[in-house]
Amino acid sequence: MSSERRKSSIKEISPIDVYMLLPKTNCKECGEENCMAYATKLVNHEVTLEQCAPLLKDENQKTYSELWEMLRPPIREVTIGSGERSIRVGGKHVMYRHEFTYANPTAIAIDITDEMTEQELLDRVQKTQQFEYEYIGSTLRLNMLAIRSVSGDPAKFADTVKKVVQNTRLPLVFCSFDPTILEAGLMAAPKERPLLYAATKDNWKEMAELALMYNCPLAIFAPNDLKLLRSLSKTLFAYGVEDLLLDPGTLPGAGFGDMISNLTMIRRAAAKKGDSIFGYPIIGTPITAWIQSADAQKKVAEWNEAWLAATLINRYADLLILHSVEGWVLLPNVVLRQNIYTDPRKPVAVDPGLRVIGEPNAGSPVMFTTNFALTYYTVASDIESAGIDSYLIVVDSEGIAVDCAVAGRKLTAEKVAEALKEAQVDTKVKHKKLIIPGKAARLSGEIEEASGWEVMVGPRDSSDIPRYLDEKWTKS
Ligand code: SF4
Repeated sequence: MSSERRKSSIKEISPIDVYMLLPKTNCKECGEENCMAYATKLVNHEVTLEQCAPLLKDENQKTYSELWEMLRPPIREVTIGSGERSIRVGGKHVMYRHEFTYANPTAIAIDITDEMTEQELLDRVQKTQQFEYEYIGSTLRLNMLAIRSVSGDPAKFADTVKKVVQNTRLPLVFCSFDPTILEAGLMAAPKERPLLYAATKDNWKEMAELALMYNCPLAIFAPNDLKLLRSLSKTLFAYGVEDLLLDPGTLPGAGFGDMISNLTMIRRAAAKKGDSIFGYPIIGTPITAWIQSADAQKKVAEWNEAWLAATLINRYADLLILHSVEGWVLLPNVVLRQNIYTDPRKPVAVDPGLRVIGEPNAGSPVMFTTNFALTYYTVASDIESAGIDSYLIVVDSEGIAVDCAVAGRKLTAEKVAEALKEAQVDTKVKHKKLIIPGKAARLSGEIEEASGWEVMVGPRDSSDIPRYLDEKWTKS
């Protein structure tokens, strides 16, 4: 890639702009029907430039570069780690998620210090790696480990790095303002390509040398000083370091207002005004709460860290360093992250079709719900946890919840009848009784007519299904 500073221009890209640069042969090698369909998907970032094989030929190199530049996000995408052990941060095209889907969910790193005992270190590595939460069909995880020098001893830091690398596949952040310490860590694990945290006004040159020598991304730390942050970003880029992250400071307490303003100004400048000097991922350090709450109780520090992390996820942070490994601190934040990083233009949907819950027999109840993911997982979980052996038909409502789908005609009697037929559930049970969601009650008559099944109107809330079945369903 060119080391020339990127141009500051934000533009609306239309599929036509992209189409005009494509080979326009409609050869379908990209898997799309024609070049226009591919151009539309490119603009929506649903396909990559590399999928158009003709574009990769030598004679099209200039066009490829033009397209690459046209589609490049204003917030640079930075890869931390190498190979399988890598994660991408940044790569955002917009300031707000409703404008376009956010790329690369905020990476969450848990810290390890070089003063921890081996057992403490291994416990934290394990807790970080094993943290998993199933949420609406996705597995939510933590992403990185941040190794902090607390001792100030390069040998100790190098030793800690070695132990961590031997026990994890997670990408790493090396944290110290002393280049000698980071160099010791890099020598202990020269191929890891960690994020180096951080360059300051005092050490930027030595940090830049390290980043270039070991091909590592580099974070810049300039707390509550955007002028300095700008100056360091400009200087480091000119020095040759292209993969940068920006830390304008995580400031709880009196600095909170400034923190929000700084984060907003950085992202607005990059995403709205094309300011390439601020066009880098943002790193936040909720772990600061532990320093600020040093004299307070552990619970206070955890609470402060939890809300700081949530604030930073909301305010554009692409990477966070946390200390707490408590579920009540982490869980709300990984769920918040998941909600912010889903595509706001597409309802979260599951595949329609028949689900068999438990071990149903010919007398088991048959129910249906829609394919809105949140509805489906709630209903299925309520039925499963109550131990109800049954058939659940998931009707395609284009990912819309029951009441909205009924109102918007996305859930109709015909669709329900069709789904019943496709599921061939009549070959599995000896009755013809269908329990419908209470919120679809107004379709009951139409469903009976369209399907020929007797309709029983179930509860409006799936948590009432067990009680409803106890009262209304005759077991056989
Ligand atoms: S591979 Fe390229 S040239 Fe062929 S149809 Fe797709 S976009 Fe057009």
